[in-house]
Amino acid sequence: MVSEGLWPVPGEAPTTEDLSRCVHCGLCLSSCPTYLVTGLEVESPRGRIHFAKLIDEGRSKLTPAIARHWDLCLQCRACEAVCPSGVAYGRIQERARAQLSGTPAGRVQRRLRRLMLRNVIARPRVLAAAMAPARWYTGSRAQGMARRTGGLRLLGRLGAGERQLPGRTGRPFRPGEALAQPAEARERALLFSGCVMGELFGDVHRATGRVLARAGVALEAPAEQGCCGALHAHDGDLEFARKLARQNIAAFEGSDLPIVVNSAGCGAAMKEYGDLLSGDPRWAARARTFAARVKDPSEYLVEVGADSPGRLAARVAYQDACHLAHAQGIREQPRELLRGAAGCELVETPGADVCCGAAGIYSLVQPGMSAQLRSRKAEHFREARPDIVVTANPGCQMQYNAAVAEAGIDARVMHLMEVLDEAQAAAEQS
Ligand code: SF4
Ligand code: SF4
Repeated sequence: MVSEGLWPVPGEAPTTEDLSRCVHCGLCLSSCPTYLVTGLEVESPRGRIHFAKLIDEGRSKLTPAIARHWDLCLQCRACEAVCPSGVAYGRIQERARAQLSGTPAGRVQRRLRRLMLRNVIARPRVLAAAMAPARWYTGSRAQGMARRTGGLRLLGRLGAGERQLPGRTGRPFRPGEALAQPAEARERALLFSGCVMGELFGDVHRATGRVLARAGVALEAPAEQGCCGALHAHDGDLEFARKLARQNIAAFEGSDLPIVVNSAGCGAAMKEYGDLLSGDPRWAARARTFAARVKDPSEYLVEVGADSPGRLAARVAYQDACHLAHAQGIREQPRELLRGAAGCELVETPGADVCCGAAGIYSLVQPGMSAQLRSRKAEHFREARPDIVVTANPGCQMQYNAAVAEAGIDARVMHLMEVLDEAQAAAEQS
């Protein structure tokens, strides 16, 4: 049930039913990154839900202060994962964000952000053009010189963003590109390519193809797919997120093959298409069918019983991506796969499942909190001294590039699929 309350956009408001599940027990507080950093109730899940209840009950308007507390939320869903009452915090927060477009607070920035998300991120050709300078820069002499001279510090926020870029960007991956195939296929699956993932992390898709091929899975990437809409939904642009969801559902229909999604944020959003389109009678059932097919590659590999030995003489710090651990409940499978590589020493750092501060475009719009969370990771890396930092989401990978640089250690940052691919290739050669 949606109460009229004092919601600026009542049609997309958090429901009274969702809000009333919170019994204010506070068990989520110690898992919330913004509460851990600030120690403030207003920056905790319970505080943010309390504000939503006040508006829902008609006891407060959506003030600029409330908007700021909601904006500081990373939407990491650590609170949802530990909540004993089953509060659907992710859904509440997406709907809370949808209200912000109806308020004057930060209207210009919000409009610009929405314009960028709709017209750059969701349009492959525009995104490719926008990423071209970053692609040229990574691995170039200019990047090496900028990093050696320390001149980036003078660029402030831009310099901090540069630290997130990988040292080298492989070729972009375009849907339709052929992937490695097994000599004899025992399973078939489809690959979701994504937006930024395909542009900046094309090699992760190719590594995913090789790892699945060694497990006997023939993987292909349908040509018609597009952006998953996760960033739009997190920004509260639910109507546009629904539009992208419908496009992807149509692109992957025609078979019941599993859909492998190696970006945790995209995978979490796509597993929830059923919820996103639950109010659309023409698409609700199709969305639920689609969502049930979505698999993270680690989850899928464990399910199909992959047994491809790897060799990796390295200390590896696996860092849970929030949308893999908290939203999809996948924690053990990536660790199990890493432990399967001979010589791999899995190092558990404190707070491995606490958000790194990347959180989609959060590091751009909330640089202060994002930097504090990154520094906590840097401190843990400095102590643990891993050779490789492993995660399963492009935004996290970029944030860990910066954290490793801040820690001053010589560690590589890799996607889980790249590490498994490297370990399996080493075992094949030995
Ligand atoms: S969100 Fe869940 S854990 Fe947090 S205060 Fe409410 S009921 Fe308790
Ligand atoms: S989603 Fe993350 S940052 Fe937001 S309230 Fe929950 S735990 Fe805190």
